[in-house]
Order: sequence, then structure tokens, then C-alpha cells
Amino acid sequence: KHTMAKSRFEYVRDFELDDRCLPNCWLVVRIDGHSFHRFSEIHHFAKPNDDRALQLMTYSAQSVMDEYKDIILCYGQSDEYSFVFKKNTKLFCRRASKLMTNVVSLFTSTFVFTWSRYFSTQDLKYPPSFDARTICYPSDQNLKDYLSWRQADCHINNLYNTCFWKLVQEKSLSPAESQARLKGTLSSDKNEMLFTEFNINYNNLPEIYRKGTILIRQKKNEESETFTSITSSNTQPKKCLPRILTLNVDMIANKFWTEYSYLLER
Ligand code: ATP
Ligand code: ATP
Ligand code: MG
Ligand code: MG
Ligand code: MG
Ligand code: MG
Ligand code: MG
Repeated sequence: KHTMAKSRFEYVRDFELDDRCLPNCWLVVRIDGHSFHRFSEIHHFAKPNDDRALQLMTYSAQSVMDEYKDIILCYGQSDEYSFVFKKNTKLFCRRASKLMTNVVSLFTSTFVFTWSRYFSTQDLKYPPSFDARTICYPSDQNLKDYLSWRQADCHINNLYNTCFWKLVQEKSLSPAESQARLKGTLSSDKNEMLFTEFNINYNNLPEIYRKGTILIRQKKNEESETFTSITSSNTQPKKCLPRILTLNVDMIANKFWTEYSYLLER
């Protein structure tokens, strides 16, 4: 590559602001589908939870995690995914805009590229987009609280949406009537409604709907023998990377962080 002579226009680069994130903080990139209320209607998502969409979201997150090895954990629900980078990542010099744009564009292109594998009988009608933001969390507790916040959001929305769609689908209420019926109700009221009117115990619904999806890498020392494989074309043993685990468990109680304590180490 030939060296570029400095032109008199070069000064405009100085208008770019320094957006490097604070050192030694957890970096979180969260992406969220743009107008997915509409997108999910146009693509006939099953309500309240379309499994194809959840699987495609998770596949796309996994492709991001495969590409960027400094991601230690991902958490997804609905049309959003959060990506947690290790505290000392040097990726893109920790530049917030570089991190989030590379994550969100790879996520989006994988989502589109892989659409038909999950939506085999539903054409993609228009190009979807996702927004992104980068957030720095200085302490482990801040990071845990962030993830708890997203998981609590998953639970609150899923409880509401489960009631909402039961009223629409089984009691033939209009969306407006269903919304009015649920206005001002507490979680306990909604649990009660599901139980008495629809014979549903909310806690027995699939965990993926109630808890969302967590992606983590398997602990390093468990990998050594399990993940050494011989490639067919080559006799050299190929060291594979730790497998990515997919979990649909609670992250709010401390149990998760004691069981997977290695995630926050180093
Ligand atoms: P980075 O990820 O840092 O942007 P990069 O490989 O994309 O790395 P750039 O400085 O953005 O590097 O340069 C883009 C490169 O892509 C060019 O150097 C060229 O090799 C290739 N390229 C882009 N567009 C074309 C094109 N239309 N025809 C041929 N080559 C192209
Ligand atoms: P914005 O552009 O502000 O994010 P939005 O329409 O995407 O607007 P969100 O708050 O992000 O609003 O909510 C996403 C919406 O997408 C949900 O309310 C739901 O209607 C729909 N949705 C996302 N994933 C699924 C899914 N797996 N199954 C059914 N519906 C889904
Ligand atoms: Mg939103
Ligand atoms: Mg959205
Ligand atoms: Mg959303
Ligand atoms: Mg470049
Ligand atoms: Mg380039």
C-alpha cells in the first residue's frame, strides 16, 4: 500500500470526536430491532412468541460471538441482544462507534443471510434494520444489574404479552379491549388471570420465553480434551475453541454468578 500524502483536506479528520470507552470497564453493546412491532406483523410472527424469530436472533448473536472472541456473554430477548466484551478488550481501540457498528452490521447481515433457514415458508418482505448503543459498566455489580434489568424486562413483557394475546386469541377481545382490560393490573393479577381464566400456570411456560437466552463460552480447562478434533484433510490435531453454551436460566439471583464465576474472572 502506497503511503498517502497529506492533503490540505486532512484537517477535517480532527472533527471526529474521540469516543474511546473508559479503560477497565465492561463494554456492553445492545442492538434492538427497528420497528419490530410492524416487522413481526408483516412477517406473520406467532404471538406472543415466534420460535423461528427467537432462533434466528440467537443464531445471529452466535455469529457475532464467533467473530469477536472478546465477547464473554450475550443476552437476548424479543428483538434485542446484548453483547458483553471483557473489561480489558482492545478491540477497535475500545471505540464505541466502531464496536457497535461492527456488531450491529454483522448481526443484521447474518439475520438477513440466514432468514430462510428459519422462516422456510415466509419470505422476507423488506430489509430489516437494528439500532445499537455502547455502554460502559465500571463494576461487576453494575454489569450484573444491567443483565438483571434486561431479564426483568423480558419477564414483565412476556407476562403482559401472554395475557394480552390470550384475551385476543381465546376471548376474541380486540387489541384495544385487551389493552384496556390489562390497564393498571399488577403481576399478581395477571398470574391470577392466566390461572383462573386460561388454566395456565405462568411458571410452567417455556423458560426461553420467560428468561430469554444467554450465550456463554464453556470454561477453558473443560475444553482441552473435549474440543481437540482431527480435521479430515489434515492429520494435525486442530484445537477448537470453547463451545458456546445456550442457556435459558435466571441471572437475577446470585446462583448463576456462582455457578459461572469464571465469566467475570481475569
Ligand atoms: P478496515 O476493516 O480497517 O476498513 P479494509 O480491508 O476494509 O479494513 P479499507 O481501508 O477500508 O480496508 O479499504 C478497503 C479495501 O477494500 C480496499 O483497499 C480494496 O482492497 C477493497 N475494495 C473496496 N472496494 C473495492 C472495489 N470496488 N473494487 C476493488 N477492491 C475494493
Ligand atoms: P423500536 O424501533 O423503538 O425498537 P419496536 O416496534 O421494535 O420499536 P420494541 O419495544 O423493540 O418495539 O418491541 C419489539 C416488538 O417486536 C415486540 O413488541 C413484539 O411485538 C415484536 N417481536 C419481537 N420478537 C418477537 C417474537 N420472537 N415473537 C413475536 N413478536 C416479536
Ligand atoms: Mg425500543
Ligand atoms: Mg425494537
Ligand atoms: Mg425491543
Ligand atoms: Mg478502515
Ligand atoms: Mg474498510
